[in-house]
Amino acid sequence: MEFKLNEYHRNISKEDLINDLKKVSTALCKSYISRSEYESNGKYSATPYLRCFGSWINALSAADLQTQRTKNDYLRISDKSLIEDIKRVAILLDKESVSTKDYSEYGSYKVQTVLSRFESWSNALSLSGLMPTVYKEITDIELFEEIERLWIIKGAQPTTTDIKNGLSKYSLNTFSRRFGGWRNALKAFLDYINEDYVFAEKEKTNEQPLVSKESVSLKSRHRTPRDPNLKLRFQVLNRDSFKCCMCGRSPATTHGLSLHIDHIKPWAKGGETTIDNLQTLCSDCNLGKSDIE
Ligand SMILES: [Zn+2]
Repeated sequence: MEFKLNEYHRNISKEDLINDLKKVSTALCKSYISRSEYESNGKYSATPYLRCFGSWINALSAADLQTQRTKNDYLRISDKSLIEDIKRVAILLDKESVSTKDYSEYGSYKVQTVLSRFESWSNALSLSGLMPTVYKEITDIELFEEIERLWIIKGAQPTTTDIKNGLSKYSLNTFSRRFGGWRNALKAFLDYINEDYVFAEKEKTNEQPLVSKESVSLKSRHRTPRDPNLKLRFQVLNRDSFKCCMCGRSPATTHGLSLHIDHIKPWAKGGETTIDNLQTLCSDCNLGKSDIE
């Protein structure tokens, strides 16, 4: 048996490259050829093309091919090619799993193409024999914080239309799955807020320690931590109708306005983080106030 060194392709002409690319295009009956398709079917690697034409798109253009996939090309991508490509990215990254973020960066196809073919990313991973991606589960509190944010922006109870319009960073599905519908999500949020109200009453009668020891420094004379938690913040905002107590503006009427929770008796002067000592101010009024102090 005779062993031959791999042929060096240093002196491949532009014409050779163009011809081989055209040949692959004809063989696959496709007007757009991706780099990985070329590498699995062509004579050369993609490297001489990049060296010669500067980019893969320029090479396609030089060969009179489509520089992007047409709809038909997308339809023609086989399940096997998609799976193989996910596997390729896993090997490339030396990972047991490939996230959609990894794939959008290194994959030859669009994440959306994979999703529409296999219905979910985890299905695609399982068909590729890869581990499911470990994603950090969104906590209830994070969902509540988002509801609060939407409530502030609107100055009123957010609706499913707001979510569908892209106001929320989580989908309606995410809220629905967790709480069983949007209404229930709002109900859970308000229960959470209201429960704190009861909790605060208990605190006054010292049935509950007001704050954990860790959250207040030993030197501090304060009974409360400086920053109000989500519940207290929402109670203050709701009491003040999501408007600045000084100028009366709100994010609902003034686009981009942000509301802050301000200590009426400054924290630095011993003011506590209690509902009676807190007020809603917009960032402009809040800054003006600190100047006076
Ligand atoms: Zn203001």
